[in-house]
Amino acid sequence: MSQTESKIGMVYLVGAGPGDPDLITVKGARLLAACDAVLYDNLIPDELIVMLPFSVERIYVGKKSSQHSLPQDEINKLLVDLARHGKTVVRLKGGDPFVFGRGGEEAEYLAKQGIPFEVVPGVTAGIAGPACAGIPVTDRRYASSITLMTGHKAADKDAPDKPGTLPGLTKDDTIVIYMGVAELEQNIRRLLDSGMSPDTPAAAIERGTLPTQRVVTATLADLPERVRRVGLKPPALFVIGDVVKLRDSIDWYQSKPLGGLRVMVCRPADQAGWVYQKLRDLGAEVLAYPTIATEENFDLPAWKRVLDLDAPTRWLVFTSENGVRYFMNQWRERVGDMRELAAYRIAAVGFGTARALEAFTLKADFVPTKATTAELAGQMAAQLDLSGAAIVRVRGDLGDDRVEKILAEVSASVVSLPVYRTITALWTDPMKEKLFAYPPDAIMLTSGSAVDGLIANLDAEELKRLISGLFVVSIGPMTSDIIRGYGMTVSLEAQTHSISSMIEELITHHQAHPIRRQ
Ligand code: SAH
Repeated sequence: MSQTESKIGMVYLVGAGPGDPDLITVKGARLLAACDAVLYDNLIPDELIVMLPFSVERIYVGKKSSQHSLPQDEINKLLVDLARHGKTVVRLKGGDPFVFGRGGEEAEYLAKQGIPFEVVPGVTAGIAGPACAGIPVTDRRYASSITLMTGHKAADKDAPDKPGTLPGLTKDDTIVIYMGVAELEQNIRRLLDSGMSPDTPAAAIERGTLPTQRVVTATLADLPERVRRVGLKPPALFVIGDVVKLRDSIDWYQSKPLGGLRVMVCRPADQAGWVYQKLRDLGAEVLAYPTIATEENFDLPAWKRVLDLDAPTRWLVFTSENGVRYFMNQWRERVGDMRELAAYRIAAVGFGTARALEAFTLKADFVPTKATTAELAGQMAAQLDLSGAAIVRVRGDLGDDRVEKILAEVSASVVSLPVYRTITALWTDPMKEKLFAYPPDAIMLTSGSAVDGLIANLDAEELKRLISGLFVVSIGPMTSDIIRGYGMTVSLEAQTHSISSMIEELITHHQAHPIRRQ
């Protein structure tokens, strides 16, 4: 059977929500995590893409500043082609797929081609943006209907001709205009010509639902001037109607400790979920730009050496969360039963590694008072009787042999067990364009290899642009040395070498001296 004759795949048209990555639906997130390929646009939150497993093919079909987006008929064909190859495809669209999103055209094409598809509705920006600006769009005291309209005629060129005025407008209608920044004046004129009062309350919302959202309110007549003065840029939308008055009393989007700070996080995506979440809960906008990733490295000869050890006391020494994760996976899948681990005592370099062990219901027997590999080895050598013991150092491919060397002085056998490799995660061109369009105020560098990965992703000119006026937060002295080695300045080095401490110290600093990109 040829591949095209094999089972046909499936296409899901999924709404990604308006910008806050948490506003994708549960169903959308579930399908995304399980698909073979995703086609996405430029308004999709980065986090939803970088967190995907490597096995998922990521295809960007949105606009680039240098060129237009992939033409609609090519997107349609690509969807069909992938599905005919048996793939499960997510077509991820900003907001709701059918609200000014051409999802209808895609669905129609799939139907015509006989490709099975489902639509997963999303939270649309025209409702969610106002909600985060404290504007309930159909509050019954002020509105009994809502009109969603496009403010961009070009985007609507295939739609039937519209009359110059909107005769149906009533005073208790709320109007939401999408895609109207460039043509705001003409749109307002049209509403005024349709009989709307120039005093009608109006709001402009830029990057709604993100911590960096900006909201401007004015009367309908004054809105274009106010928007121009503030320099509002797309994506933005406009809300017109008496409901806008309610913002004065229910603007709930209060400032949080990291209110509006754009923080770039370079940690590997599969370990960064909680960091993104925590920063966002604190009011920061997260720029998810992993610079490194890890991959499995199963070293059979090394495992054989480990399993041949027959010393009465055996230690497993873990110096990273990754080490724990990959070791446990390899043990479970290729080596044996969890109960056999009872033959080992366990050392962990610090709190993060110990917590990773706890996730497997394993408790560390030894944790040094200071979380560095040298302290771990030194304190083990000084405090434990390791003379007849065998020691397994679980590790990645980077770093030196210091732990092995220090422990070899006090123990008869020390074995290195590499379980993972660190690789550079390369950014796509659209990711880079977005980074420079909305550059970060601060960057969190959580390891030396993450710094190396950052440098690998940028040429000298780009690096200069990124770091000028950037607040650089380092996890500790070793990472700081590497940062400085590349000619960058460290703005803040965490006292305790942990990510939680980096975040806490960032808050303290930001509250004393507000951080803003200069
Ligand atoms: N399908 C999307 C809309 C796509 S059209 C949805 O349902 O939301 C793109 C327009 O949506 C932008 O030009 C802008 O007007 C609006 N938009 C999208 N995200 C936005 C956001 N976070 N804040 C304000 N407007 C947004």
